Amino acid sequence: MPQQQRLPFPYRPEAGIVSSHLQKLAATLDWAVAAPLARPWVQAVRDNPPPFWAMESLLKEYPISSAEGLALMRLAEALLRVPDAETAIALTADQLGRADFDGASDGMMARLSASAIAMSKKFLPEDGQNSIMSKLGARTVVAATLRAVQLLGRQFVLGQNIGEAMKEADRSRKDIPGLRFSYDMLGEGARTGADALHYLASYQDAIKSIAVHADVERACEKNDGISIKLSALHPRYEDAQHARVMAELVPRVWGLCEMAARANINLTIDAEEVDRLELSLDVFEALAAQVAKQHPQWKGFGLALQAYQTRSLDLIEHVISIARKYGLRLMCRLVKGAYWDSEIKRAQEMGLPHYPVFTHKHHTDVSYLACAQALLAAPDAIYPQFAGHNAGTIAAIIQMAARNADVRRAGPPQASTAPSGGSDVHEVTNVGAGSSFELQRLHGMGEGVFREVLKNPQISCRVYAPVGAHRDLLAYLVRRLLENGANSSFVHQLADESVGMDALLTSPLRLEPESSLPLPPALYGPGRPNSEGLDLTVESMRAPLLAALASTQVPVAPEFDAKLIDGPVNTGASSYQKWSKIDVAERAAMLRHAADAMQKHMPMFCALLVKEAFKTWGDAVSEVREAIDFLRYYANEAERIMAPIALPGPTGETNMLRLTARGVWVCISPWNFPLAIFTGQVAAALATGNTVIAKPAEQTSGVAQAAVRLLHAAGVPEGALQLVHGPGETVGAALVAAPGVAGVVFTGSTQVAKIINRALAAKDGAIVPLIAETGGINAMLVDSSALPEQVVDAVVQSAFRSAGQRCSALRLLCVHEGIADKVIEMIQGAMQELTVGYTAELSTDVGPVIDREAFDNIQKHLQRLGSTSKVLPALSARAQEAPDSIANLVLPAAFEVSSLAEVKDEIFGPVLQIVRWGGEPQKVIDQINALGYGLTLGIQTRIDSRAQALAAAAHVGNIYINRNMIGAVVGVQPFGGEGLSGTGPKAGGPHYLYRFCAEQTVTVNTTAAGGNAALLAGVA
Ligand SMILES: Cc1cc2nc3c(=O)[nH]c(=O)nc-3n(C[C@H](O)[C@H](O)[C@H](O)COP(=O)(O)OP(=O)(O)OC[C@H]3O[C@@H](n4cnc5c(N)ncnc54)[C@H](O)[C@@H]3O)c2cc1C
Repeated sequence: MPQQQRLPFPYRPEAGIVSSHLQKLAATLDWAVAAPLARPWVQAVRDNPPPFWAMESLLKEYPISSAEGLALMRLAEALLRVPDAETAIALTADQLGRADFDGASDGMMARLSASAIAMSKKFLPEDGQNSIMSKLGARTVVAATLRAVQLLGRQFVLGQNIGEAMKEADRSRKDIPGLRFSYDMLGEGARTGADALHYLASYQDAIKSIAVHADVERACEKNDGISIKLSALHPRYEDAQHARVMAELVPRVWGLCEMAARANINLTIDAEEVDRLELSLDVFEALAAQVAKQHPQWKGFGLALQAYQTRSLDLIEHVISIARKYGLRLMCRLVKGAYWDSEIKRAQEMGLPHYPVFTHKHHTDVSYLACAQALLAAPDAIYPQFAGHNAGTIAAIIQMAARNADVRRAGPPQASTAPSGGSDVHEVTNVGAGSSFELQRLHGMGEGVFREVLKNPQISCRVYAPVGAHRDLLAYLVRRLLENGANSSFVHQLADESVGMDALLTSPLRLEPESSLPLPPALYGPGRPNSEGLDLTVESMRAPLLAALASTQVPVAPEFDAKLIDGPVNTGASSYQKWSKIDVAERAAMLRHAADAMQKHMPMFCALLVKEAFKTWGDAVSEVREAIDFLRYYANEAERIMAPIALPGPTGETNMLRLTARGVWVCISPWNFPLAIFTGQVAAALATGNTVIAKPAEQTSGVAQAAVRLLHAAGVPEGALQLVHGPGETVGAALVAAPGVAGVVFTGSTQVAKIINRALAAKDGAIVPLIAETGGINAMLVDSSALPEQVVDAVVQSAFRSAGQRCSALRLLCVHEGIADKVIEMIQGAMQELTVGYTAELSTDVGPVIDREAFDNIQKHLQRLGSTSKVLPALSARAQEAPDSIANLVLPAAFEVSSLAEVKDEIFGPVLQIVRWGGEPQKVIDQINALGYGLTLGIQTRIDSRAQALAAAAHVGNIYINRNMIGAVVGVQPFGGEGLSGTGPKAGGPHYLYRFCAEQTVTVNTTAAGGNAALLAGVA
């Protein structure tokens, strides 16, 4: 169970926070003094580019906002890992084919890279032709491009192993004596236990090597050190796995700390994503307590802190309080933050009230300076390490440090609110001999500015030095390319001569009252508020959910007598007379009102979903949000499509087209999305003026009752929305067969959809429309350019989340033979890390399946697969520990099948089948199409043109490229399939409501009353 929150709420408006920072800085920082300090540095760099300047030039020439920059980044990310020539050629052709690399550039490296790339382009097969000649050329091109990308990558890596890196470090120290290094062992975060142990061993080896050269006698800050990522050391370094992390990760990191403490070197824990911050603090404090007990003299323990977080200053205060509580002096590396783009996306996806990071670049700069000031003011507790390459920021820090040193020299601080002033650069740079802070930069970045800054002998610098093979460099390289290539980046602007000195060194000390991006609740514009989500890692957000669990009872419902079905049908018909005539705006207002109420009662609805449908908390929140979105979306859509359209025609008449309701609709919904699908169907029918008889799945009648109560309370008359409970075979069948039903909307199995279809066809009277959304054998096609870690994340989420009980869930993974061994091994490893159990526990990933019948059915499939295919043993110790007392728990299972044709049935549970493929990916899509289903498809490839071609060839409703394939969002990914997977139209899409309506044109002969007055008056 996650711990109490230590920091303030992370999602707050940024303006208030920035104002407060600005006030604090007004007393300590004078930009007019700081900026002149930076001017000569900038000038010197521009006059005399450093040896590696070429990198910045390259990115200046090909910024990531350009096709060339993007291509460069894509190639850098993927090319080195592709194992087979075919795919490497296709990838290179794809990326280079659409960019123009022929321009010249300054600098040796840039020229080399650019010309290799330009040369590559010339050799590329055009229009995808694959003759032997062009293929031979293409291999050369790929080799040249590989070389270019390796050269690019090498600029950011100090060595391929720690020994090589340390030698490089010593070489650098010949030029800049006293330069310190913090080595970073490259790699993606661990997905499996084996990955974590591999990274642990690599950190251990590195510390051993660093220790040999460290001096235990001198101040620890003068030794080289190491930076570690907690996500590399545990495959489930997540807030929801708090207990595991504390029990398993802390001892692991403590082992590294002990080694670092004995060697008297700096060990810094890197800062990662915002949702891991609280967890990282718990880990950090647990370790700090151990340090205080066992190595109290060690001054090298530290962590990185991100200034772009809106609560960064609170974080700093918290870390200072940890240092003082345990009597330690900690090292704190202040960074701006490397995950800005992904933090913004996550907040938007989760519908959070605000962003956890600043949205204006200069607000991050302000925050950085406010944090720097706080760190400088706590020398008893903190050794500050200021990391970054921005000359303005560095100058401001030096000014603040000099002022601090002045204050220290002058004795206790005087009450003063004004900056100390003083424009003498020498005074400003006098930060105190053996200064009590250091600057840090990344290897391969900022050399030019630092060459100038370090002319001041009082200033120390440490280089963050990635170490690793080319294969491990990719994720890191992309981060750096993004950073360097972004227009707002200082490094990028420094390289761009068109940005003048004044613009480059403009004061960041100003407030922007509004966020630079629409806030997540306003993502869909003013007309449709986004549903509000929750961050379950935030204590104050999850507490109401957990409280609701205790107070929420699942209502029980009496079974309806199918023989009495005429009653509700007649009520629906008579209510239709009134409901259909209500103005669409009024009906829409009721649905919006219901949406607001559902938002307000989110904890209760989530608790119901957890209790009745065995949803995990995360799934429950997503489902309530989806239901809210349906209500608002269909309210808007009904208003949009039901407005009459005037049609052109001859003079003397008016022609108008309008949509009208059809009558009584039967809405039959499943248990797997008992709130979202139920609400979506009902809202669509009601919004368009139909009345509804809803029959929810028997397993989840409680959720349906709560939803109907809410809609009635929002103003929907009881006759317009009626609920009947009971089995599909009796109550559902009676409803479908009843005369007077104007339409049926059904979500469930293909088999039942066909039964309904036949029953409707057999009825006398009008032809009744059916909307059926059914399941599928959903596949994911992975080629060898895909990133295995990303594939594994997507597979595990898509196949096992919600215990595989989603229509969209992944059933069949088709993985390229070149990477299959690795990917399959990682999937098995990741499956072993899943927690299976009660969904009321936040740590649970996979809960029970819905009932005994479902369980038995899955077991039959498991037995069959067990005897016909290769079982991938992924039953984890953790899963086996799951209490036997939980009924209907199916442990996640995976099987390797020898051919795609063997896969026949949709298995509605946490069961994945895997098949290897080689040759043409198009053939795999043909085989997937031949299965006859067409709901969801995942494609994982870095070859954009291939992804688009495969998507175009697939007869599938929802295609997800390079991500998981579940969690369609209303109005964003309208959902529904074709073939055996459903009739369409897509739920949550702009065509859905039409199916609920009849169309009517009204033509009025305006000359009937006499002559054509309008024509004669000249206005027709
Ligand atoms: C030694 C060292 C160690 C590092 N360790 C870590 C670490 O552990 N964790 C980590 O996350 N990062 C780390 N970084 C990366 C760091 O966070 C920055 O991404 C990088 O240094 C760029 O900052 P800058 O001052 O050099 O450049 P600048 O150009 O001045 O700043 C760029 C930064 O501004 C922020 N930004 C960009 N656009 C916006 C916007 N629209 N609104 C608000 N803010 C914006 C981002 O944080 C971006 O990185 C480290 C950097 C160094 C030098």
